[in-house]
Amino acid sequence: VAEIGTPDRAVVTTCAYCGVGCTFRAEMRGEQLVRMVPWKDGKANHGHSCVKGRFAWGYAQHAERITEPMIRDSIDQPWRVVSWDEALGFAATKLNAIKARYGATALGGITSSRCTNEETFLVQKLVRAGFGSNNVDTCARVCHSPTGYGLNKTFGTSAGTQDFDSVDESDVILVIGANPTDAHPVFGSHMKRRLRGIDGRPPAKLIVIDPRRIDLVRSPHIEADHHLALRPGTNVAVLTAMAHVIVTEGLADEAFIRERCDWDEYQHWAEFVSLPTNSPEHLAAVTQVPAETLRAAARLYATGGNAAIYYGLGVTEHSQGSSTVIAIANLAMATGNIGRRGVGVNPLRGQNNVQGSCDMGSFPHELSGYRHISNASVRALFEQDWGVELPPEPGLRIPNMLDAAVEGTFRGLYVQGEDILQSDPNIQHVAAGLAAMDCVIVHDLFLNETANYAHVFLPGSSFLEKDGTFTNAERRIQLVRKVMTPLNGMADWEVTQALANAMGLGWSYAHPSEIMDEIARLTPTFAGVSFDRLDKEGSLQWPVNEAHPDGSPIMHVDGFVRGKGRFVVTDYIPTEEKTGPRFPLLLTTGRILSQYNVGAQTRRTENSLWHGEDQLEIHPVDAEDRGIRTGDWVKLSSRAGETTLRALVTDRVAPGVVYTTFHHPDTQANVVTTDYSDWATNCPEYKVTAVQVGASNGP
Ligand code: SF4
Repeated sequence: VAEIGTPDRAVVTTCAYCGVGCTFRAEMRGEQLVRMVPWKDGKANHGHSCVKGRFAWGYAQHAERITEPMIRDSIDQPWRVVSWDEALGFAATKLNAIKARYGATALGGITSSRCTNEETFLVQKLVRAGFGSNNVDTCARVCHSPTGYGLNKTFGTSAGTQDFDSVDESDVILVIGANPTDAHPVFGSHMKRRLRGIDGRPPAKLIVIDPRRIDLVRSPHIEADHHLALRPGTNVAVLTAMAHVIVTEGLADEAFIRERCDWDEYQHWAEFVSLPTNSPEHLAAVTQVPAETLRAAARLYATGGNAAIYYGLGVTEHSQGSSTVIAIANLAMATGNIGRRGVGVNPLRGQNNVQGSCDMGSFPHELSGYRHISNASVRALFEQDWGVELPPEPGLRIPNMLDAAVEGTFRGLYVQGEDILQSDPNIQHVAAGLAAMDCVIVHDLFLNETANYAHVFLPGSSFLEKDGTFTNAERRIQLVRKVMTPLNGMADWEVTQALANAMGLGWSYAHPSEIMDEIARLTPTFAGVSFDRLDKEGSLQWPVNEAHPDGSPIMHVDGFVRGKGRFVVTDYIPTEEKTGPRFPLLLTTGRILSQYNVGAQTRRTENSLWHGEDQLEIHPVDAEDRGIRTGDWVKLSSRAGETTLRALVTDRVAPGVVYTTFHHPDTQANVVTTDYSDWATNCPEYKVTAVQVGASNGP
């Protein structure tokens, strides 16, 4: 502040990091951001913030920002800086040529949970109405696509059931595969207040299901009642054992189930989970959780009062990710923990707009509002509005696009705001897919790893440079307000519109509010949303429509969106990824407070001073076996590849388990992750990789 001077104006906007969606006052001096001050009226943060939202905004004006478009004929040539018209014309010519020669299905696009709802909606519209295929996907593919599948199947819609403040009414909090104090810090602090009982009520009880001893398990004035340190990959077995206890000990809420759920399906499920092979005693060896701990956790969850489940990518990024989401929903329905404050099933979304990017129809099988592309009447609505005919078959997911590229049938890709060469698994395969394409268009702030394979680079704009909306993990839609002029001259929605028009589509949005009006017109859950209302009311939680004119802090209050809640049997199936003599340890991954995802933003801020490299956590027993001490360089190898990083010897992880973060490109943790993925959605199995760790002299 001393260097820049005192602010001369302030704009209220929304954080661009995690799915908590904190609101800030961006204090400006001219075109220079002076500081971000957490906004006391923010409905998600109530004036609180974390180190990322408050301090890690320097990337927005970082010297490495690319502000002019660039093109090249092939990836072995140097980039040529060109005008916007030339870059867009070059890209459109290539895309149109691929379409003419190979057909519409040879083209596709990838949207990002970093972008606004309006930008995401435009990318999927460009792919469907312009490219002519349903080959559109989002980076939620690699994080919460199993949430989409699992919650849709059981409850009828893909979203968390509660608002954050609902945790104040919880008596039992079950955290599975999430680390809220690092990954969702403001909500993590909110949860901690409830766990400390500083709201004048007895502290809520805490169950943590996680292979690692996350901070919540033991922190000042908080001690988890039960920590189920399961073997990575056995979530379904743990939840099945808990369901077994609930059903066989008569702890299920049969009145709730009879009234709200499909009773026949419940009976079928109850019969399955009651099998002796699903008992805690039988599954203890598989899960490595003692039977008594499984029983005690199940009893507490079922009988402790209002019980809420919070989960993260430790649930979804598995070969049984969708099954685990379903198993969680089954547990909540079986105990009647749905439809009121203090209970529910709550996916904690990693990125600021994961919920929104999924809501906007950026999956290849769904139009906005989670309506299947094969539904002719839904398609007709969009066809009439857009003046095109839409293909009824689902398109390709990201991994299928890359497979098809290697096979030669997929030739052109538009990627907005995602670095697939760093964030997707088995990056050797990603590189092969990208290298095989005729036209890769990267639209981003920085020349990222994916751009090494691009023919067109379209400079992107940061959240400070555009208007739009983000939707946080509690379905809260909030305005993102333009704070400064885009460094590249255009906000991202304008770039996508310009590309569409270069291809001959004739779009004419003058402002993102007009895109939201179109979203509201075509999406029943957003029918009552407009920029005017958001500006006046601060935020709205969808569904917002005739039935819920003021929005919906809690879902499934009187009935499930799908009618009767649906119990679905989830049989535990071990992952194909096996340990053995060559790879005897299991690697799992996660985030740290000061950094964010692959670090494209936080590494370009002073946050890197606090966490400058990824480390490998290894248990003292495993470290001693290998002669490894804290700070040593170690080689981490798997069947897919190998990388080098420093060791941190700690009993946070159990013997046989190692853990690392994935924030630094030097480490490239995804060199070692495998191709295995969720059976229903292809979400990669990042959380279980058989590895070996050995001494190394460094990279
Ligand atoms: Fe931003 Fe999430 Fe931190 Fe809030 S908790 S300031 S949304 S990163």
